[in-house]
Order: sequence, then C-alpha cells, then structure tokens
Amino acid sequence: MDTQSKIEIVGLRKQFGDLVVLKDINLSVDQGQVVALIGPSGSGKSTLLRCINLLVTPNGGQVRVGADSFAFGSGTKLPGTRELARFRAGTGMVFQHFNLFPHMTALGNVMEAPVTVRGTPKAQAREKAMALLAKVGLTDKADEYPSRLSGGQKQRVAIARALAMEPDVMLFDEATSALDPELVGEVLAVMQKLASEGMTMVIVTHEIAFAREVADRVIFMRDGVVVEEGPARQVIDAPREAATQAFLGHFH
Ligand code: ADP
Ligand code: MG
Repeated sequence: MDTQSKIEIVGLRKQFGDLVVLKDINLSVDQGQVVALIGPSGSGKSTLLRCINLLVTPNGGQVRVGADSFAFGSGTKLPGTRELARFRAGTGMVFQHFNLFPHMTALGNVMEAPVTVRGTPKAQAREKAMALLAKVGLTDKADEYPSRLSGGQKQRVAIARALAMEPDVMLFDEATSALDPELVGEVLAVMQKLASEGMTMVIVTHEIAFAREVADRVIFMRDGVVVEEGPARQVIDAPREAATQAFLGHFH
C-alpha cells in the first residue's frame, strides 16, 4: 500500500444481502487534499464514506486512514469495539441530518466526546469547545439547545463537534442537502475554511460549483463503481465519460 497518502482504499467491496453496492473501489487521498464524491442517488457514495470510518463493515478490500489499516474478507477478524471507537475518533463525520444530542446545548454537544470518550478534563474540553464554536461563528449560541438553532447553525455545531476530537480527516455526507437554500452558504464557508487550513476532506455533495472551487479532485460514481476521476475542474468542466456528462448536465 502507498503510505504517502492519508486515506487509502484498495479493492473495497460492499454488499447488502444480494445487492452489491461497492465493486472494487480504489481511492487514495493525500494529506491536505479535498476530494469531492459526486454521482446519482443510490450510486454508493454514502456507503463508501461510511466504509472509510468503518460505520459500515466492508465485505472485502483494505481500508487505511493514517497508520490504522484494516483488511476485510472471508475469515478476517473484524476490529474490536474499542479499536473501532478509537479509529472513528480520528475520522470526523458530518451527516446530512446533523445528529446533534437534543438534550445538550451547543457547547455540551461539542464537549461530549472529548470528555466521555477521551477523558479530557471538563474545563479543558470547555475551553477547546468554545474556541471551536468561535471558529464556526457560534460563540453567541454556545448555551442554546439544538431546537433553538437554525439548520445552518446546527450543522456548524456538528462540524465543531467533529473537530473537537482533533480528527486526521473529515468526512462530509451531503452536509448542506437538508438546509434551506439561504443557509447553505454559511456551512460551505466553514468547510472551505477547513480546506484552506489543510484539513484532509472527503465530501459527498451535490454542490457542483463548490466542488469545482474547493476540491482538488472529483470522483464520479455510478452503480458502485468509480466511473471517472481527476482534477476538479477537468472532471466538472470537461468530463470524458458519457455518464459523467449526463449527470453533470442536470446541474446546468
Ligand atoms: P448514495 O449515497 O450514492 O445515494 P448509498 O450508499 O446510500 O448511495 O446507497 C447505495 C445502495 O445501497 C442503494 O441501493 C441503497 O438502497 C443501498 N443501501 C444503502 N445502505 C443500505 C443498508 N443499510 N441496507 C440495505 N441496502 C442499503
Ligand atoms: Mg447518500
């Protein structure tokens, strides 16, 4: 395996029952690179993202993030719960539907994992959480509960919460798809800032203009395979494959 890259996926295969959802996926993401995954609904984007942090267990292939490497296939021993928890802490994930803890304030949400998973002292976790809320522009919302936040604010809390575990990589699964149009920009701005600071990111998105602007590479998937990949502007402005052209045509 290439050890220069931050994320390395080799021969990844996933099926749900008889349905093969990912077929021999290879993917390598360098330190500090931003990769956008695009493709029609049902093409396997979310499943691929979830295989990277092992929220979904692959049926075959290898997954490496940083120094943590896992092989899957018949007969291989799956990682234990503790190993999985430690591994996932290093891969921050942001979902379409925020998944904030409703009974905790914004600050409480951001402090939770460092305190309970990592045993960070509360005062220290609070200080760090406040700095992260400031980073996403929500200092004044620290004591609000999620029900009193807009979708864009909730998603920015979710990003701060993922960052609190100091992840090596950030995975975004349609982080802006559930937002009212006028709230999309504030979340994309936070994502763009993270990218410019050198965070390694894999982003599933339908925001093609954002992918073109912010991503280093774009990967177009369909039916569980990578159809085309390359530099963002090349894939988006001049796709080679008919399937990519047809997909991107919907956005013009
Ligand atoms: P995308 O994110 O590109 O829309 P997904 O990765 O969510 O695609 O889904 C790919 C395929 O896998 C779809 O056919 C979907 O119905 C199926 N799928 C996803 N998760 C599950 C699951 N937990 N059980 C069964 N089928 C699933
Ligand atoms: Mg999806």
